[in-house]
Amino acid sequence: MAKKAGREKVMGFIPAMQDNLLATALFRSDFKKALASKAFTVHYQPLVDLRTSKTVGFEALARWEVSPGKFTPPSLFIPLAEDIGLIPELTEQLFRLACLETLNWPAQITLSFNISPILLCNKLLAPSIISIMDEMGLAADRLEIEITESALFQDANAARYTLKKLRDAGIKIALDDFGTGYSSLSQLCNFQFDKLKIDKSFIDTFRDNEKQDKIVRSIISLAGSLGVKVTAEGIEYANQLELLKDLGCDIGQGYLLGRPAAKAIFHQVTSSIIYNFPLQKTEREMSS
Ligand code: C2E
Ligand code: MG
Ligand code: MG
Ligand code: MG
Repeated sequence: MAKKAGREKVMGFIPAMQDNLLATALFRSDFKKALASKAFTVHYQPLVDLRTSKTVGFEALARWEVSPGKFTPPSLFIPLAEDIGLIPELTEQLFRLACLETLNWPAQITLSFNISPILLCNKLLAPSIISIMDEMGLAADRLEIEITESALFQDANAARYTLKKLRDAGIKIALDDFGTGYSSLSQLCNFQFDKLKIDKSFIDTFRDNEKQDKIVRSIISLAGSLGVKVTAEGIEYANQLELLKDLGCDIGQGYLLGRPAAKAIFHQVTSSIIYNFPLQKTEREMSS
């Protein structure tokens, strides 16, 4: 009886597995077509120096244009690309696009580029980033690589190897989504970073929530004492911006300062460069 029930369960499981395999195979073929037809693009969101209000860099954010003007978010397709083993191809294509775009910007403007945890642990990553950068003619001090904490404890030795190679070449490293991982503080001792990016979830409510407020204050002062820069992501409201400026946060990123857009457009105002977001078609306008 028990055996029969068990067998039925297993038999029921097999069609589900086949569905899954089929879905993966279909996705893989769609993904390969998208790579071949260059359907993956990069959008750029400004990083603003909160002391001078000048744009100092842009973060490159992957987009999959499924039909004209309609984009699938990276939170959906990056994990799937990891699962089907195509993240190296995708990353190379996106990185080449982002390097090309960066070469159009003034020389002091930097590019921040996200790297999947899976790739950070691959020993081929650093040499291939460095050789593409050299081939494209992008100076190392214009590049910052953003990584998340999960990469660091997947394979700490491999991650350390990659980070050292990148930093030795003059590339900066930012620890993204800081505070959301399992062991943020120990990672600060074990690895060398140039920047911490405070996750949006802390910025969302920190004006109205005393605890969040204290956490944000502490991260900013911790970064200061460690001698690393700090960025706040997800700034949407003027009161968040004002408080972050008062607290001495170095860099700001968020819809208030500029949404991700297909091209980084600069607007020259007297001697300062200001990101011209009101004149630009933003992601929300493009997808509506
Ligand atoms: P992230 O690296 O933390 O990037 C910031 C995300 O927050 C972006 O979402 C950006 O559009 C969004 N954002 C920025 N400011 C605001 C704001 O004020 N309000 C709100 N609601 N959102 C804001 P996006 O583009 O959907 O990217 C999501 C995540 O996907 C990224 O988080 C990053 O982890 C990953 N990702 C994006 N592009 C790439 C890539 O080329 N490679 C890899 N491996 N991951 C990528
Ligand atoms: Mg990022
Ligand atoms: Mg981030
Ligand atoms: Mg984030």
